[in-house]
Amino acid sequence: MNALTFQALRMLADGEFRSGEAMARVLGVSRASVWNALHALDASGIEVFKVRGRGYRLAEPLSLLAAEAVVSALGASAPRFAVEVVDSVESTNSLLMRRAAAGAASGTVIAAEWQTQGRGRRGRAWHALPGAALTFSVLWRFEQGAGALAGLSLAVGLAVTRALAQCGVREAGLKWPNDVLWRGRKLAGILIEMQGDMLGPSAAVIGIGLNCRMPAALLDRIDQPAVDVATACGTPPERNRLLAGLLTELDTILTEFSREGFASFRDEWQACHVFQGKPVKIALPDGGIVNGTAEGVAENGALLLATQSGQLRFHSGEVSLRAAA
Ligand code: ATP
Repeated sequence: MNALTFQALRMLADGEFRSGEAMARVLGVSRASVWNALHALDASGIEVFKVRGRGYRLAEPLSLLAAEAVVSALGASAPRFAVEVVDSVESTNSLLMRRAAAGAASGTVIAAEWQTQGRGRRGRAWHALPGAALTFSVLWRFEQGAGALAGLSLAVGLAVTRALAQCGVREAGLKWPNDVLWRGRKLAGILIEMQGDMLGPSAAVIGIGLNCRMPAALLDRIDQPAVDVATACGTPPERNRLLAGLLTELDTILTEFSREGFASFRDEWQACHVFQGKPVKIALPDGGIVNGTAEGVAENGALLLATQSGQLRFHSGEVSLRAAA
């Protein structure tokens, strides 16, 4: 999607009809260019209707991101963030990692309508569409070294579930170490990348992808069960407000995390853990599987697994947790 596609999307975001001619005039391009831009939207999964004599309109209105709208919804947390909205970027985490290395301040936020190479853990793809999801990254600086930040992705998951609860999603659960689920389907993912020394200071780039209102065809293409906020709470909150709500909860949690680490969140996290006390399997990087019962997490966020040969601890790095078959 190029810049013209985004300009056309912004013109149609209210869901009203616009004629191709009027759009071409405002955008200063030919009608064919407008058609191409709208075709690119359609091809990406954003449905555009064309009605003879009336022009184009989106199947549904979209609320697009605007930094001012996020900031005004942030309230008392506003001074702690610098919010930037971009139309398109390869990955908000990659861009913010570069900004962090160049000295960007703690609280820098980059939110994108479209990521050309959205990522999960270990390079897995993250899927989203403009207007349909939140994909954003937050830079947070810590005095401690990266070694003291174990459990950070779990604490961030709690911030997401707290923000979702505020807007009516009551049953969001957490899957160790970095997923937010709703009734067994994935609602949000978290990707944390670190910079700095083991002894400190360090910087975490916290990437969050949250499905807001995704077309069913896109959800179906994801290779594991996925769901969106619209399904989980009926009336989804406006995206800028939802992003502000997430940042507000992150502010609270990250401030406490930098003082106390993960330990003070442990009980709340376990209360949200979808596999707590359940039979699970751990997939190891070498393809091996360890079966056991998920007993909870340690004070540093390591997963505690009861197995036939005793209790084992797993750190989030390279292993994946799944329900036992
Ligand atoms: P792990 O338990 O190892 O974290 P995971 O499958 O949850 O495994 P992540 O790296 O956390 O892996 O997330 C990437 C995965 O999430 C993708 O491989 C895909 O299965 C799924 N996915 C991609 N986009 C979305 C989305 N918008 N909503 C829900 N799930 C998605």
